[in-house]
Amino acid sequence: MTKESVPEGVLAQRQPGLYSVTPRMPLGRITPEQLNIINEVVQEFRLPGVRVTAGQRLKLQGIPADKLDGVVERLGPLGEFCKHYVQACPGTTSCRMAMRDSMAMGARLEEFLNTLTLPAKVKAGVSGCSMCCSESFVRDIGLMGKKHGWTVVFGGNAGRRVRTGDVLAENVDDDEALRVVGCALGVYALKAKPKERTARFVERVGIEMVMAALG
Ligand code: SF4
Repeated sequence: MTKESVPEGVLAQRQPGLYSVTPRMPLGRITPEQLNIINEVVQEFRLPGVRVTAGQRLKLQGIPADKLDGVVERLGPLGEFCKHYVQACPGTTSCRMAMRDSMAMGARLEEFLNTLTLPAKVKAGVSGCSMCCSESFVRDIGLMGKKHGWTVVFGGNAGRRVRTGDVLAENVDDDEALRVVGCALGVYALKAKPKERTARFVERVGIEMVMAALG
């Protein structure tokens, strides 16, 4: 199987001839029915295992090339490619520390991000309070809930060259937070080089360019 013929979202593993697929699980949530499908696929195709990723998703690993199409087809909509993803903490759904509903906000952000075509993968972290359990300051987009609204962060990265994101707005409501994210990603989409992550983009052009786009 050539690189070009691999379905979008499928990753070639280090071992030649083996692939992995990461089903779409916004905010790490999965229904019993979806869990059943994943379990059935793993058993039916005798896959060696499933791994929980750092981004709150499940990765089906060790898929041989001749089973790949069958696995993707069997996963159905669950196997949809999801380039940008959002991790969120439980927020007000269950955490006593929470100031904001990070799950609801994360769901809106996830839906919004996946309508966009961007130069590179965008990861987002939505935390319901300043304990920042979703690592909002080291994600491309970060939201952190406080008593009077969201703090919006842009350009963070937790990779080899760690970067703490810049605060674009504070104490904003859900709609304004999404608007600010949209403006920042608008200038990123327009000015970034192909495959340039937001952290490297901000380092290159300066956060002032992003701030100027906020209106
Ligand atoms: S960030 Fe705050 S609200 Fe979210 S899980 Fe951590 S302590 Fe709870």
